[in-house]
Amino acid sequence: MAIFNYLKNLTLLELLKGLNLTAQHLFKPKITVQYPEEKTPLSARFRGHHALRRYPNGEERCIACKLCEAVCPALAITIEAEPREDGSRRTIRYDIDMYKCIFCGFCEEACPVDAIVETRKFEYHGEKRNDLIMTKEKLLSIGDELEIQIEADRTKESVYR
Ligand code: SF4
Ligand code: SF4
Repeated sequence: MAIFNYLKNLTLLELLKGLNLTAQHLFKPKITVQYPEEKTPLSARFRGHHALRRYPNGEERCIACKLCEAVCPALAITIEAEPREDGSRRTIRYDIDMYKCIFCGFCEEACPVDAIVETRKFEYHGEKRNDLIMTKEKLLSIGDELEIQIEADRTKESVYR
């Protein structure tokens, strides 16, 4: 065994095997994606940044049932609610702490009215402390911005495009 190892080292066998592998891949098409100029396809079920949705008449979908808050394993959602004058129940506070969120999608699964959703948005950042605490206003504005895509993702059969 020692002799075999000695011969292997002497003939640089491992080095030659490595060079051979490099040579095999040298002229093959490259699969590196030049992000951000190039993007890979995203599934319609991609779990990116959250959004709160509205109905077409502008009314918030969320009915403050707090199922999403209860199901969240990271305890990232904080909801406060109170009844409106017309008796309907709505949130007065809906925060998602994106520092805690693990993007499991449970909140989206639990929501009975499709109000909280995870979108395809994944390019975002925070520059100051608390920038990634998403308030109700921020989540609704993302929902307003991406509603067409969100609705399309929930109606089409193909999950890739
Ligand atoms: S995706 Fe998961 S961890 Fe993030 S807020 Fe929803 S339930 Fe919580
Ligand atoms: S987002 Fe959905 S699950 Fe969460 S409180 Fe609102 S209606 Fe309930």
